Amino acid sequence: SANVTTARTGGALIPGVKNVIAIASGKGGVGKSTVTSNLAMALHRSGAKVGIIDADISGPSIPVMFGADDMKPTISQVNGRNLINPIRQYGIKLMSIGFMTPPDSAVVWRGPMASQALRQFFADTDWGELDYLLIDLPPGTSDIHITLVQTVPVTGAVIVTTPQKVALADATKGLAMFRQPQINVPVLGVVENMAYFTPEELPDHKYHIFGEGGGRRLAEQFSVPFLGEIPIVQRIREAGDEGRPAVMEEDSIQGHAFRDAATELA
Ligand code: ADP
Repeated sequence: SANVTTARTGGALIPGVKNVIAIASGKGGVGKSTVTSNLAMALHRSGAKVGIIDADISGPSIPVMFGADDMKPTISQVNGRNLINPIRQYGIKLMSIGFMTPPDSAVVWRGPMASQALRQFFADTDWGELDYLLIDLPPGTSDIHITLVQTVPVTGAVIVTTPQKVALADATKGLAMFRQPQINVPVLGVVENMAYFTPEELPDHKYHIFGEGGGRRLAEQFSVPFLGEIPIVQRIREAGDEGRPAVMEEDSIQGHAFRDAATELA
């Protein structure tokens, strides 16, 4: 129940938000933000109200992936309090460190400043009613991860990995982090990204470029659900760069793969 969650993390509930789901990876570049944006759109398509907090201070990519990198959040006064209005794009509410300018003309976010900004995304942002608030975490295990669980009750974490050995080693560390007693966030499952490549002219072939089955094995090893595998598809990369998550291309390989993973998660 909500009370148990609050007691566990010490974080305050966000009124109106039913589930806070952290999307994590050990290693950078495995497609964590791509998976976050496409899962969000897939959940939205199934009728859920969805928001994303992009907490990846080292490389906030949610604004670009949603074609929202020119947008700036506005501030409203609600009962004498200043609240940030999240950006709305394709029916999803977005907040990103990429929308904010670092204070004191700093060019990079330092840890404590970033943690403070992240806190505002939870405490001072008008999220309204949401079924899912997805948090795109920075790769690895950092201050931000600790801040997160101390600030809000995280319902659970999803681990994104490629089947490659180095990615799996880091994903294992990430998974173990959520299980530490002082963090203690349930792991909802593993998504294996870049699982295989199928050329258009050889539709029955699967090339396991980064190795085979590593994500599923990781899930088995930790007795958590395997949420699915996402193939390497050129349109996934292109659509990310174009600012329209590829899952929106309904009748496509990636459309089915991301929707299946979202169904497993929900
Ligand atoms: P991370 O958030 O883990 O750093 P990104 O989501 O930014 O990773 O993905 C890294 C790059 O790989 C991006 O250019 C993205 O478009 C691309 N990418 C991610 N997943 C896939 C996929 N399944 N097929 C093709 N390209 C992908």
